Amino acid sequence: MTAVRLPGWGRSPVVTELPRPVPRDGQVLVRVEAVGLCHSDLHVIDAARGAMPFRPPFTLGHEVAGRIAAGGPSAAVTVGERVVVHGPWGCGSCPRCARGRDNYCDRRSELSWAGMGLGVDGGMADHVLVPSTKHLVPIGELDAGEAAPLTDAGLTSYHAIAGIRPRLDEDSTVAVIGIGGLGHLAVQLIRALTPCRVIAVDVRDEALALAERSGAHLSTKATADTSRVLRATTGGAGVDAVLDFVGSRSTLDLGARGLRSDGDLVLVGSSGGELTVRKPGSLPPGCRISLPFWGSRDELADVVALSRAGALSAEVQRFPLTAVHEAISALRNGNLAGRAVLIPG
Ligand code: NAD
Ligand code: ZN
Ligand code: ZN
Repeated sequence: MTAVRLPGWGRSPVVTELPRPVPRDGQVLVRVEAVGLCHSDLHVIDAARGAMPFRPPFTLGHEVAGRIAAGGPSAAVTVGERVVVHGPWGCGSCPRCARGRDNYCDRRSELSWAGMGLGVDGGMADHVLVPSTKHLVPIGELDAGEAAPLTDAGLTSYHAIAGIRPRLDEDSTVAVIGIGGLGHLAVQLIRALTPCRVIAVDVRDEALALAERSGAHLSTKATADTSRVLRATTGGAGVDAVLDFVGSRSTLDLGARGLRSDGDLVLVGSSGGELTVRKPGSLPPGCRISLPFWGSRDELADVVALSRAGALSAEVQRFPLTAVHEAISALRNGNLAGRAVLIPG
C-alpha cells in the first residue's frame, strides 16, 4: 500500500510502498477514505531530534475517515461499516484509557507516541491499523472528506469549548484567534452550542472570510492594536474567553491583554510561545488558563452527531494522497481555507 512516512527527524516526509498490515487479536484494519493534514503534522515534520518523544520512521496522519476492511480474531466488526478513528491512543490500560479518555492517559509521559500518526503508524496510507473497536465511531453516510477533520480539528475544538461552556451566556463574548482547520470549526461549535458573541482574529483575509461564513459576529485582522479592538467591542471590559489556536508569543500576549477579569484563556495552538504567570503580574485577576489536548471518544461521538445533524461542517480542500507535498506547501504558505484532506487513490 502507499503511505506517507516521516523517515527521520529533520527529513521531509516520503511517499513510499509498504505491505498492507494484517490485524491481530482485537485490532481493526480500516481502509482510509480521507485523512486530514493538521498544522501539528508541520510541527512534527519541523521538530528537532529530541523535541518530541516519537521514534521515526512512522506513517503520518491522525484525522481518518474510512471503512472497516477487516478485524483480528477477537474483534467484533462489521466489514464495510463507515467510521472515523478516535486518534489519541494511550497506554490502553489506565483508568483514563479505560474510559476513552486516552488524551489524558495517566502514562502519557512514559509513551513514545501521542496517538495514531504521532509516533505510531497513522492514516496517510491506503489502510491503517487501529488497536481496538473502541477507537471507532460510526459516521453513516457522512462525506469522508468532511468527516475526517471532525476527529481532531472538530474534536479538539469541542473539548476546548466544553471546558468553558458553563460560563458562556448571551452576555458573553469569545475571541477565537487563528481561523484555520481548528478555528473555523470552533467558531461553528460556539455558535451551535452557546448563545454568546464570537470575534474572530487572523492575519489572513481569506481566513477572516471563512470565519464569517462559519458564523463569527465580527472578524478582525491581527495587528498590534487588536487587544484594543477586543476591549472596544466589549465596552472596555475585555472578552470573557480567548481560544488561541496559534499559541505564539504575540497571540498569547493579545489574549492576556484582551481578556476580562475572571476570564478564560484557552491555549490550543502549539507554536511554542511563552506567557509569564505571576502574582502580582499582568494577567487579569481571576483568570483561568487551560491547555486542552485533543478530546475523548465520547466527545468524538458528540461531534459526529452534531455534524450528522447539520450543525457542523468542515470546509475542506482535497488533494490526492500522493500530492501530500503540495498540500503541505499550501498549509505552510497560508494558501488554504479550512482543512486540507488527502484522498488515497
Ligand atoms: P492552521 O494552519 O490550519 O490554522 C492556523 C491559523 O492561524 C491560520 O489561519 C493562520 O493564518 C492563523 N495565524 C497564524 N499566525 C497568527 C497570528 N499571529 N494571529 C492570528 N492568526 C494567526 O492550523 P490548525 O491545524 O488549525 O492548528 C492550529 C494549532 O493548533 C497548531 O499549532 C496545531 O499544532 C495545534 N493543535 C493543537 C491540538 C491540541 O490538542 N492542543 C490539536 C490539534 C492542533
Ligand atoms: Zn492535529
Ligand atoms: Zn492510559
